[in-house]
Amino acid sequence: MIEINRKLCIYCNTCTGVCPVMANRLREVVVEHDPEKCVDCGTCVKACPVAAITLRAGKKNL
Ligand code: SF4
Ligand code: SF4
Repeated sequence: MIEINRKLCIYCNTCTGVCPVMANRLREVVVEHDPEKCVDCGTCVKACPVAAITLRAGKKNL
């Protein structure tokens, strides 16, 4: 799963588009993340232009 720093997020929608399993979605001005869908690939972490996303230890990479 990931963690999104909402103070840094500029709601650019990039992390929603790059996720291969559609675990992120922009809803109004909040990115909703679904840890059940996330496969911890790190793609959105690298794609975020303001480094607002951190990959955390989740069920798949403990
Ligand atoms: S780490 Fe990968 S699977 Fe998880 S939300 Fe980001 S892009 Fe999607
Ligand atoms: S890519 Fe980063 S700045 Fe853009 S919506 Fe996602 S968390 Fe926010």
